[in-house]
Amino acid sequence: MRRVTIFGATGSIGQNTIDLIKRDRDAYDVVGLTGAGNIAQLAADARDLNVEVAVTADESRYSELKDALAGTGIEAAAGAGALVDLAARPADWTMSSIVGAAGLLPGLEALKHGNTLALANKESLVTAGPLLMATAKQHGAQVLPVDSEHSAVFQALIGEDLACVERVIITASGGAFRDRPIEDLQTVTVSEAASHPNWDMGTRITIDSASMFNKALELIETKEYFGVSASQIEAVIHPESLIHALVGFCDGALMAHVGPPDMRHAIGFALHYPDRKCLPVERLDLTQIGQFTFRKACEDRYPALRLAREVMDQGGLWGAAFNAAKEQALDAFIAEDIGFLTMAAIVDETLSTLAAGQDLLADVTLENILKTDQLARTTAQEHIKSRP
Ligand code: NDP
Ligand code: MG
Repeated sequence: MRRVTIFGATGSIGQNTIDLIKRDRDAYDVVGLTGAGNIAQLAADARDLNVEVAVTADESRYSELKDALAGTGIEAAAGAGALVDLAARPADWTMSSIVGAAGLLPGLEALKHGNTLALANKESLVTAGPLLMATAKQHGAQVLPVDSEHSAVFQALIGEDLACVERVIITASGGAFRDRPIEDLQTVTVSEAASHPNWDMGTRITIDSASMFNKALELIETKEYFGVSASQIEAVIHPESLIHALVGFCDGALMAHVGPPDMRHAIGFALHYPDRKCLPVERLDLTQIGQFTFRKACEDRYPALRLAREVMDQGGLWGAAFNAAKEQALDAFIAEDIGFLTMAAIVDETLSTLAAGQDLLADVTLENILKTDQLARTTAQEHIKSRP
């Protein structure tokens, strides 16, 4: 039996992972699950899967979790330290699907123990790409991308020589506002932004899709994971969300990965890799679909993409600053403290402030990453507060 751990089990990716595991229950020994606020779901899945330990990231919810697991023999734990402790337990496969930079430390810990890390948590790569990949290498651990675009690129590259790759194109649905005039965007509501036309995902990534910050994170993720240069990476809008990415080779061939917008494909691919196994996703009927369409992802309309270019060009700690500022700006939008378009302005201002006063090109060590993350958050908050 394979020992698996799921970080962020109560979220959208976590629940899809559990769905796949439950379909082949005897093949897996689920060591631990984690969540944060959704204690009822965490406890229910922990019981169902008879795990060793369930962890909530929220220390104030510990007794609630402990009570919900009373009499089961399942250990309850809470807090950021308990997440890292779980990552240190022996496991073969670890799903990293916490949302935000909070996913970084458990992911690093799992790699230090040689676990295969199925990485949905894109913020880890954006914040600490060089450190994450070096940690994996040092400990002989594998990182497998779960983001649908990166899983698609990974699959298109199997058996290929990276030296023959000319470009990597990742697609973007365009999110909730792809057809709205830019003049209307400052006043859109949180619930409008949190409604995705094609994908069913967590709230934060759905809003990031509408602002194109999700694609910005993914451009950086592509650079960090595959080691291709920024100039080789493009994003195009593909409203159907059926082609997830394309890889262009030096002989002119473009290899496209086509599939339904269902994360169980990318999760299942990472779960079974290097094998391919049957997955419960829709089989596409191309004659029904009829056509695939593409549009330019314009950096004037989506400043997040321009900022991502700058982050990729600069490297170093720019990714950590970018991600933390984006998380703060997103919090402020969700709290209705700032308008939709102000999110990108806050990230831009935060990067400018930090670049002027800090060495964002210092070594990408854990200490520097955590310091930059914290500083970017307080700087972004100051910029948010200074808004009328
Ligand atoms: P959700 O918001 O649905 O789930 C997030 C998970 O993280 C939940 O288990 C949540 O717990 C937990 N969590 C929230 N805050 C913290 C914290 N501070 N510390 C520890 N755990 C926390 O997110 P998604 O599943 O949509 O996304 C997860 C990750 O995967 C993100 O990085 C996202 O960008 C990436 N991703 C998601 C895709 C998708 O289709 N959803 C596609 C590609 C990538 P609780 O719910 O109990 O509060
Ligand atoms: Mg994606």
